[in-house]
Amino acid sequence: MLLLEACVKWEEVRVAKSFECRHGGVVCRARITGETEEEVLQKAVAHAREVHGVDLARSKTLARYAQGLIREA
Ligand SMILES: [Zn+2]
Repeated sequence: MLLLEACVKWEEVRVAKSFECRHGGVVCRARITGETEEEVLQKAVAHAREVHGVDLARSKTLARYAQGLIREA
């Protein structure tokens, strides 16, 4: 049972996601993290709009590109 609990905890850690602007070729040190891909993507969209003046939500291609940059944290 102890082993099973350890596995569940590990799984919780593993699902954390992160997004870094620099992976998209942008000179920016921002690192966005969240528990789910959707959460990270939402934050990334807000960040891109506020900091870079780019509306990722306007273009499906851009949104998909940003989504592809999300990694395991
Ligand atoms: Zn940025």
